[in-house]
Amino acid sequence: MTLQGTSIIGSGRGQGSESAGNSINPATNEALEPTYMAATSEELEQAVSLASEAFKTYRHTSGADKAQFLRSIAENIEASIEELVARMPLETGLPEMRVRGEAGRTCGQLRLFAGLVEEGSWVDARIDRAQPERQPLPKVDTRSMLRPLGPVAVFAASNFPLAFSTAGGDTASALAAGCPVIVKAHSSHSGTAEIVGLAIQKAVADCNLPDGVFSLVYGGGRTIGQALVKHPVIKAVGFTGSYAGGRALMDLAAARDEPIPVYAEMSAINPVVILPGAAEERGAQIAQGLHGSMTLGVGQFCTNPGLIFVHEDHADVIASETAKLVETSASSAMLNSGICDAYCGGLAALENNSGVKQLAKATAGEGSNQAVAALFQTDVQTFLTSEDLTHEVFGPASIIVTYKDEADMLKAIASLDGQLTASVHGTDEELTSNKCLAAIMEDRAGRLVYNGFPTGVEVCSSMVHGGPFPATSDGRSTSVGSMAIYRFTRAVCWQDCPEALLPAELQDGNPLGIQRSEV
Ligand code: NAP
Repeated sequence: MTLQGTSIIGSGRGQGSESAGNSINPATNEALEPTYMAATSEELEQAVSLASEAFKTYRHTSGADKAQFLRSIAENIEASIEELVARMPLETGLPEMRVRGEAGRTCGQLRLFAGLVEEGSWVDARIDRAQPERQPLPKVDTRSMLRPLGPVAVFAASNFPLAFSTAGGDTASALAAGCPVIVKAHSSHSGTAEIVGLAIQKAVADCNLPDGVFSLVYGGGRTIGQALVKHPVIKAVGFTGSYAGGRALMDLAAARDEPIPVYAEMSAINPVVILPGAAEERGAQIAQGLHGSMTLGVGQFCTNPGLIFVHEDHADVIASETAKLVETSASSAMLNSGICDAYCGGLAALENNSGVKQLAKATAGEGSNQAVAALFQTDVQTFLTSEDLTHEVFGPASIIVTYKDEADMLKAIASLDGQLTASVHGTDEELTSNKCLAAIMEDRAGRLVYNGFPTGVEVCSSMVHGGPFPATSDGRSTSVGSMAIYRFTRAVCWQDCPEALLPAELQDGNPLGIQRSEV
């Protein structure tokens, strides 16, 4: 496939008039062809008006037809796998194995939503039948279900070029809900975005859907992304990235004449607590798991474990065993030079913090933008007075925080901002007796992990990849798993509506055979 370097606008291509830059190979700093052209404001307008037009029919597309579309996207991505294997590692520094694994996850995610909408009960149909004889007043007939919001803007994430990008969870869940999608490509993997964007464009045509169901726009300098969020046709935004980026988009969306929801997944430091019994029983094994989790994907996961709380009498094994493994970790190129610079800045700040001791640091290997794993240690008193230690350092670094008094550890966890995850290692007795820790974890995080590590998010119906602000902008939502569909819907109630006007999901006789709540 020859990459064209222009936006995908419905069934056509844009031309652009200004460069949005080239993807850069982070391992060599070489620019990759082609140069990508930013969408012009006319092209953006065209994508948005196509999406608005498409919504008129796509919102009524049946679950079976949406399922066929989502499966067709997955098949087309699978058919492009060799192109992705050739391009994505060059743009991201990620290995071939990761491309294949992430493509599998992306297609699995699309098929999960296909199954959900095909079965149909996700719409949460509720029926309260009329009671004309009710005293003192008759009761009206009311029926409600979830309906799609409208065209959605999705910002692709740098750290999951497939699973959280062009055809990632935000796109899959919005399309499943019945919303057209306009993706703003991430500037560090433009070619990967084009390959996947073409797979979606082909699926739209193969399934005879209106061509504005999907567009992909390129843009440098933030102008295109911001114009998209401000456009009156756009009704919701999905985002994964930095706190600064997510916050800027939230503020922009809130300042519109018609404010819209922004579902932003931003920063998290994902605390892990290792209780004394567990440290004593299996300290070396926990250290091994910890090292694997903190260095997985060069530490570029939103669920990376950044803070490890251990009782000071039991910290030695955890600290020394993890340090040994960190010391010998191979370095790797990060996703782009901006992310590498931010990581190096974060490490330097920790190294220069007099309250923090560096326990281990790996050695940088050949190549550009290499991230070296690092392990630090501090005590809970220092931690409680150093707000900067609670900030995400995006990369393979963690801080061990030792405590003497369990109350201080609980206070430290309770003081953290909202998190995607909170994990605890303990013996059965420790876990069940520590109700206070369990309650604090639930208060602070979206997913609570017992005797495990936070990386490796299962894509399934019960998954919550969310959490209180600033882990996400809306702690009631998840960006992974089938519940993600609810972000792009709103409930509509029909009162005394003629049967012929009701959606099939709410009609008498339940023609779709879905689960409904009926009285
Ligand atoms: P980012 O800078 O937030 O960018 C994400 C996307 O949002 C890109 O498409 C970017 O456009 C766009 N964007 C950012 N700020 C914007 C603004 N003010 N207005 C309009 N659009 C905006 O994230 P990133 O590039 O992936 O990584 C930067 C840092 O974010 C990392 O070093 C890391 O600290 C953090 N990060 C955290 C997570 C996490 O899951 N916790 C994941 C990824 C990154 P461009 O493509 O034009 O830049």
